[in-house]
Amino acid sequence: MIIDGLGDRPIDELGGLTPLEAANTPCFDLLARTGITGLMDPLSPGIRVGTDVGHLALFGYNPLKVYWGRGPIEAVGVGIDLNPGDVALRCNFATVDENLIVLDRRAGRIRHTEALAAVLDGMPLENGINAIFKPATEHRAVLVLSGPRLSADITNSDPGPTNEGQPVQEVKPKRSGQPLAEKTAQLVNQFVRKSYEKLRNHDVNRERMGKGLLPANIVITRGAGMAVKMRSLTERFDIKGCCITGESTVAGIAIMSGFKVLTNEKLTANIDTDLDEKARLTVEGLKEADFVVTHIKGADLTAHDNKPREKLAFIEQMDRMLQKVIDSLDNPQDVYIAVTGDHSTPCAIREHSADPVPVLIHGDGVLVDDVRSFGERACAHGGLTRIRANDFLLSLLDLMGVTYRFGS
Ligand SMILES: [Zn+2]
Repeated sequence: MIIDGLGDRPIDELGGLTPLEAANTPCFDLLARTGITGLMDPLSPGIRVGTDVGHLALFGYNPLKVYWGRGPIEAVGVGIDLNPGDVALRCNFATVDENLIVLDRRAGRIRHTEALAAVLDGMPLENGINAIFKPATEHRAVLVLSGPRLSADITNSDPGPTNEGQPVQEVKPKRSGQPLAEKTAQLVNQFVRKSYEKLRNHDVNRERMGKGLLPANIVITRGAGMAVKMRSLTERFDIKGCCITGESTVAGIAIMSGFKVLTNEKLTANIDTDLDEKARLTVEGLKEADFVVTHIKGADLTAHDNKPREKLAFIEQMDRMLQKVIDSLDNPQDVYIAVTGDHSTPCAIREHSADPVPVLIHGDGVLVDDVRSFGERACAHGGLTRIRANDFLLSLLDLMGVTYRFGS
């Protein structure tokens, strides 16, 4: 179970406790008491990571070697089959005025953009290249350019979160003298311009404006990356994997790792996600896979909004959800249960921090330590001590008996 943004710092309003420490979590606490605990750094102490890098590490990759940009991860996450050399970009549906000044980078956090995306998918661009365009979570989407001699070394058309009120930026090569990046930048600029022409009078937008909502009248791009081929976790250890998530980034990393992704429209990757459905899919996943990862986003979002009480309440809901999963297992004694996060998101700073994240592993044969509850400070005394996300994954796989011996 990966609780996005789990770790936090002491909060005055919670009597100096963290949301996890202050939360009533009987299930997590029992697992901590009868399991082994510790603190985990996603990469290493002092390094802050994004959700993408945190999950790459949790799925066994070394992000310092394989991180190739967020675009390709999102593309795989929305079901696009990438070829090596394809360039993938993260996109937002956004609202611009007639001078292409960005009024809202998320078009009022629009949801259900399938009809809008459909008029952009397959758009012919120069050099015989057609745009592949698919909707992702909420206002997000993915653009893929597939063809020979492209480059991901290009800037963003998205002016960025602190620059609303600025115009859509012209995409350029990051460095001069790069003809492939020059060509790719032109293709993306063409796509962005055409997206405005095709979206501004779309029926969905007329309807939105009629209701006083912001129109999603352009697509802006960022995070270009090039697809690469790499060995998956399931190949490395000859296991069957399954991931339950509503978020396309995590889904993308899971698919790259060889996992089957179980998701549906009830999983929103937001605080309104259906945790009962998540529990049900987790139990279903355990029937066919050796290794099941259930990712829950909500805690991270409440922390980004500096809402410690909402984070606490959401953590309590997750505790009940895990209990529900355990109660539904036919053979709980044969299952290892691990709980951790992909990084800390302290409410007070509303951002990811490098603080290590608590971790627990429960199951047959673990060296039970003296820790009595699941929390940042309690787990500092745990038997796993302070480990990295890669070490945590390998420790869990080793308990499962699927790792290989190094040496004779
Ligand atoms: Zn995260």
